[in-house]
Order: sequence, then structure tokens, then C-alpha cells
Amino acid sequence: MHIPNVPRYALLNATVAHALLDIAEAGSAADGLARVDVTVADGRVAAIEPAGSSAAGLPSLDLDGGMILPGFVDPHTHLDKGHIWNRRPNPDGTFMGALTATGQDREAFWSAQDVRARMQFALRCAEAHGTVAIRTHLDSIGKQIGISWPVFGEMRDAWKGRITLQASSLFGIDMTEDDAALADVVKAVVAYGGVLGAVTYMGPSLERGLDKLFAAAATHGLDLDFHVDETNDPAARSLEVIADAAMRHRFEGRILCGHCCSLSLQSPADEARIIAKVRDAGIAVVSLPLCNMYLQDRQAARTPRWRGVTSLHELAAAGVPVMVASDNTRDPFYAYGDLDMLEVFRAATRIAHFDHPTGAWPRVMGPTAADVLGLPQHGRLKVGAAADLVLVKARSFNELLSRPYADRRVVRHGKAIDTTLPDYRELDHLVG
Ligand SMILES: [Zn+2]
Repeated sequence: MHIPNVPRYALLNATVAHALLDIAEAGSAADGLARVDVTVADGRVAAIEPAGSSAAGLPSLDLDGGMILPGFVDPHTHLDKGHIWNRRPNPDGTFMGALTATGQDREAFWSAQDVRARMQFALRCAEAHGTVAIRTHLDSIGKQIGISWPVFGEMRDAWKGRITLQASSLFGIDMTEDDAALADVVKAVVAYGGVLGAVTYMGPSLERGLDKLFAAAATHGLDLDFHVDETNDPAARSLEVIADAAMRHRFEGRILCGHCCSLSLQSPADEARIIAKVRDAGIAVVSLPLCNMYLQDRQAARTPRWRGVTSLHELAAAGVPVMVASDNTRDPFYAYGDLDMLEVFRAATRIAHFDHPTGAWPRVMGPTAADVLGLPQHGRLKVGAAADLVLVKARSFNELLSRPYADRRVVRHGKAIDTTLPDYRELDHLVG
């Protein structure tokens, strides 16, 4: 598959999903797919036309029905934690094991040099897989604030034009009881143009803490991003408390809630009530299916019974924007992963039944996250947008979802890029 190395060329006989196109007749075809010719000019998508209708004479590549996907958007990751597995594995695969092991590793090793090298490695993986935009959470506790946020700022500048980076703070909601500690976080978030985020769980400081966070976000014009109810305890309903707070504050920024695992264990009446509030509050939800499958319902010597994911179908049916994302990679929260959104979509299709029908679910690879993150120029096949494309030989979703497509071609700004993945050995001096 040779992508013409000229400013203006055509990709012929490509299969595209209506769900990933920025055109009005989305979903009109029975299988949700269309056969098109795509013209690329000066790094941008110049035309998307029915196959066979593009102007003759341009250098071209005939894809013979192979799919073109837009560059991926990954709305929830932890670049600061990534790739520490070799030096800090999860002792028992549980959530508490992950929390403790990661905290110990952060205290012992997370210098600027350490965080920078692991972030750089992770971004190279994501880029090689075809990702164009990422939101990362950054552990924002004590001295780590002054280390990870400046490194994030460096990375965002260094990767401009390759991967668009956003960051959200991450700390337990109890920390909001300490006004000085909260002020330190808000200061860093504002300084680096970030998103204000925290982990929410039931407890005496939840409502008071949310009031402080919503007030700070309104004052500084920040968006909010929460890690919510990552547990199988149905009594965990901090999602509802967040929705109530959003409405009480008449919050006008964007709110993203991640995980929301226990929502799918509510009674039908409670689930419906909470989902209606989430919709009315304008909250978007991101599920992290790989990480949730790994951590949730894990008990020694007992086979897991629950998939751990939130009520994605019910949320989507109610009109809540829903997504999936990578979450952790090779750290105590998730032992595996490589920031490959095609892997995440493939796994999510199996775990959460994004099929029968496929419908709009492919939008989780790009368009929905792009909108929720405020990056409408990314994540969709659109005339005038950057020609950031992922080309695979698969001609249908069945072919796409049956193989990992390690041989995919990634086009950025109209040019094929090197998709060689970095070697784990490069990190041996830090984590080996
Ligand atoms: Zn997370």
C-alpha cells in the first residue's frame, strides 16, 4: 500500500463509515458504509465523492474497498502512570492493589525525567497507532503538581501538530477539604490551560467538595472531568451527586464523567433517574472497558461474573454522549494496553455489544470525543480538515474487528508516517 508522496493525490475505492463522516446522510446505508474516493491536497481532505467520480489524472492509490478511518481521539488516559509495570506491578490485580502500588511508585520515582521519558514513549505508541488527540489525567498531589504539570506543558508544545494534548488534574475528592492544597491544583490547571478533575466517591466531603470544584471551574472558565464510582458497590452514586451539583450551579462548562461502573448495578428505577439527571446536566460519559474488565469483579480464585462497564446503551439511548477510551497502560491499574484506539473499539465491541446493530457506535473512535473535548477539527472525515487518516485493508466492520491491523497505514497531514512502535527496551534504564 503505497501512499503517493505528492501534495495532491487521490485514495480511490475506499470504504468509509457514515458514522465517521461529517455529512448529513449519516447511517443511511443499511450497513452504515459507503464507497468513496478521497482527494488529498496540501495536507487536507479536499473532496469526498462517490467512488468512480474523482477527477482522473491525479496520482492515486486504489484501496480496493479498504477502510479509511479518521485519526483517533482518546479522551481518557494516564500518561504519567504509563509503563511502570516492570518496576511496580499490581500485587493482586485489585483496585486497592493498584492504588497502593501506584502511590508508592509515584513517591519513589516520578521525577521530571522519569515522567517525561514514559510520556514520550506512550505518545510515540499512540501516534504510531493513528491517534491525533489525547486527554491525560495527571496525579495532582503535593510535590507531584510541580513536576508533572510542567512536563505536560513541555510535551504539549513539543507534540504540537502531531498529537493534540489536554490534561486534567486527578486527586481524591477528600483533598478539597484542604483549601491550600486545592488552590495549588487550581493554580496549576489554570497555568497550563488544563481541565479540573478529581476522583469522586461517597463520603462526607463529596457534596462540599463538588461545590468548591464547580465554583473554581466557573471562576476560571475551566471544564470538569471526574473519575466516578469505579466500584461494584451499588451504594456508590456519586454520579447523581455530580449531576445535582451541575444543575445547582447552572454550570456552563463541559463535564466528562469516567468509569461510572456502579451505574450498571443500580435498580432499573434508580438507573433511569440517574441517567435522566446526567442528560439534563449536560454530562458526557466515558467508559474504560479494558481497565474495568481487569480491575472490577476480581476476587482470588473466583471467576469474574461482571464486565465492569457502565450502562452505555441506556446512556446513549437517553441522549448522553458516550465514549470509550484507553485509560491506563502497563501500570498497576491495567497491566496491558498500548494507547491503540482501534484495540479499544475492538474490545469494547465485544465487551459492551457495540454490534447488532453497529449503528453510531464507531463514533466512539473519534467524533464524539472530539466534540466533548472541544476539538471539532479532529476525529472525523471531513472536507477541509487535516488529512489525518488510518488506512486498513478491512472492507467491513467484521473484517476490521476480527484482526488487530498492526499493518495499518497512518497518514498525517496528507503524508504517510513511520508506524514502527518504540521498543520496550528503551525504558529498561527507568523501569527494568
Ligand atoms: Zn482513569
